[in-house]
Amino acid sequence: MKLNPYIVARDYPNEEEEQVCCYCEQRFISTDPRWKRTYEHLDCNHENNSGWNIAYAHFKCNQDKKTNVDYQFIAHDLIKKNKEWDENNDFEFTRERNKIFNTDEPTEIDLNVAHRKITEEFLAEKLSVDEKLDFIDTINCITLRCENQTGHGSKQSVRNYLDVLSCSEGKYRKFKEGGKTWISKRLGQ
Ligand SMILES: [Zn+2]
Repeated sequence: MKLNPYIVARDYPNEEEEQVCCYCEQRFISTDPRWKRTYEHLDCNHENNSGWNIAYAHFKCNQDKKTNVDYQFIAHDLIKKNKEWDENNDFEFTRERNKIFNTDEPTEIDLNVAHRKITEEFLAEKLSVDEKLDFIDTINCITLRCENQTGHGSKQSVRNYLDVLSCSEGKYRKFKEGGKTWISKRLGQ
């Protein structure tokens, strides 16, 4: 759960600081059901998992808030404070938090991993049939597979992967022959 680093950065910025309940400001006791730590939905809407709406509270204080007007005022102030914090801290924690709710949008890293896998699969598949492949055509075919499978494809990044895979320690080698560039398995692999 990526929410925790966000809450810690916002509510407990000093590393030595012990985590306390957002209402009674006493520490948590993980072995006691009443005083263990829970996620508090400050606006009382349990379906609103926006970062600004979540804080740490005792299980008991979370229950007490339903009837405790002081706690309800604290929650109101915390929502305001958290929204301000979000505006002033538009960095990785905010982005991480947003990612939780937009899981269908692949990140750059997800795409890099997927494209690398597609490249390696293509080479393994084709070079089990042919001894060598036209380097330019290989770039184009892999880029097309990346576009079809992930919705994104870049010839330049495919070329970069191929260069890495055919470095002197790689499984593949790139060479010129008959005026063309080729890629093949490295001998001994
Ligand atoms: Zn408490």
